[in-house]
Amino acid sequence: MRDKYQPKLELLPIDIRGYRAGNTGIDYVHRFSSGKPGPNALINALTHGNEVCGAHALAALFENDIRPNRGTLTLSFANVDAYHSFDMDNPGASRFVDEDFNRLWSDEILGGTRQSSELTRARQIQPVVADADFLLDLHSMHLPCPALMLSGTAAKGRRLANAMAVPEYVVADPGHAAGPRLRDYNAFAETRAEQTALLIECGQHWAADTGAVAVHAVFHFLDALGLIETEAAAPFLAAHPPAQQMIEVVGPITIQTEAFRFSDDYNGLEVIPKAGTIIGHDGAQPVLTPHDDCVLIMPTHRPRPGQTAVRLGKFID
Ligand SMILES: [Zn+2]
Repeated sequence: MRDKYQPKLELLPIDIRGYRAGNTGIDYVHRFSSGKPGPNALINALTHGNEVCGAHALAALFENDIRPNRGTLTLSFANVDAYHSFDMDNPGASRFVDEDFNRLWSDEILGGTRQSSELTRARQIQPVVADADFLLDLHSMHLPCPALMLSGTAAKGRRLANAMAVPEYVVADPGHAAGPRLRDYNAFAETRAEQTALLIECGQHWAADTGAVAVHAVFHFLDALGLIETEAAAPFLAAHPPAQQMIEVVGPITIQTEAFRFSDDYNGLEVIPKAGTIIGHDGAQPVLTPHDDCVLIMPTHRPRPGQTAVRLGKFID
């Protein structure tokens, strides 16, 4: 198994217990209403308990008393039970308690009879998600890859990502076969509905920079939606962000055997110039790039049969 990469623990969990009592009747969910018309923007942290940058970003909003000047701002810490299980000796284990919180987001699954720690929490915050016009879901990655915005395949996601102007890389991705993500819930996934959701991968889970990327992202989101004055956002915005680059996902490589391995230590966003380049082997079968300038998106560090090894993409205008 290829897991040679041992991340440094620079960005650590913070104490969020002070945010437990919200004003919504749901623990760790806060709502600030401007009293004026405007959208309801939801910023969600800790969909995965080990992705601590989201907690840092929400704390920055609380500590700076950020309030919307129109519409409503809703802040939620999702999988707090997983987050609270963080262990310095095994930090990845705090990703979830029973199952991936980010594969449960359909009314069929949420309305079913199955039980788990994550389903209980998802059922609690479902009304909050259903009520949101815009969602920014804060995530991070195991491998040290530059930040990526996953905008979905609909034009509305790309428009909002472009309005935010960060991060540099925006990936138009279809969802996961393994189950719908928070950002795919109901209206968010409907091309013609106005509700729009973005998922940002802010960098490596515990890298110092990742916290700063998450803080930039939440302020760019609120600025893009016109929920806060540009002057209020200005101190927290990224200085001179580079022009954005759009990547369209061409297809996933799904792992077939127990013996999948990459040819190199890919971290993501590598561009393979020539079509037909071998990027790995699945058992005896070589894995080839299907086109020139093929972008590797979020290669897995833990290949398992049936899972996605990597998604392949290409830069588009
Ligand atoms: Zn995540």
